[in-house]
Amino acid sequence: MGTPHIVLVRGDITDQQADAIVNAANSSLLGGGGVDGAIHRRGGPEILEACRALRAAHLGKGLPTGQAVATPAGRLHADHVIHTVGPVFTREEDRSALLASCYRESLRVADGLGARTVAFPAVSAGVYGWPLDDAARIAIDTVRAADTSVAEARFVLFDEEAYAAFAAHLG
Ligand code: ADP
Repeated sequence: MGTPHIVLVRGDITDQQADAIVNAANSSLLGGGGVDGAIHRRGGPEILEACRALRAAHLGKGLPTGQAVATPAGRLHADHVIHTVGPVFTREEDRSALLASCYRESLRVADGLGARTVAFPAVSAGVYGWPLDDAARIAIDTVRAADTSVAEARFVLFDEEAYAAFAAHLG
C-alpha cells in the first residue's frame, strides 16, 4: 500500500491500456454522453450487459453519487471498467467531498480487483459542469492522499485545457 505514481496523458481514454479504466458514469449506469458514451461504444455490449446485471442485482435505484462499481471492459484494452458517478457542479452547495469520493472509491474498487494501473478521466468536468481548475485540484489531491496498491494513476485528459489544468496542479 502507498501512494500511486501520477501520470498525465492527453488523449482519449478508450485508447488506453490499463488494468482498469474509470468511467464518469451517471447513476443509471445505462450509458450517456462524453466519456461514458465513448467507453460503451468502444467497449461494446458486454459492459452495458454487466451494468444492467448490477442494476438488477443490488443497484435497483442506480449507483449513488461518489460511489464506484466495476464491470468487465469488453473490447477495451483493460480488464475492468470502474464506473463512478461524479456530482453535478452547483454554486449553491459545496459537493467537493463527493467528487473526492469518486477517486477514493475508484481506487478502493481497483484495490479489490488487484489493478495496478488505473486510467481516470476528469470526472464531473464535462457535462456535469465542474470548473476545470477545481476538478483537477480535487482529483490530484485525493489521489495523492490515497493509501492504495495501485501503482499508477493515469489521468487521461481529452483536451489541452484539461491537460493544462491538471499539469498546473501536479506541480
Ligand atoms: P461528466 O458528466 O462527469 O462531466 P463527461 O464525460 O461529460 O463527464 O466529461 C468528463 C471529462 O471527460 C471532460 O473533461 C471531457 O472533456 C472528457 N472526455 C470526454 N470524452 C473523453 C474521452 N473519450 N477520453 C477522455 N476524456 C474524455
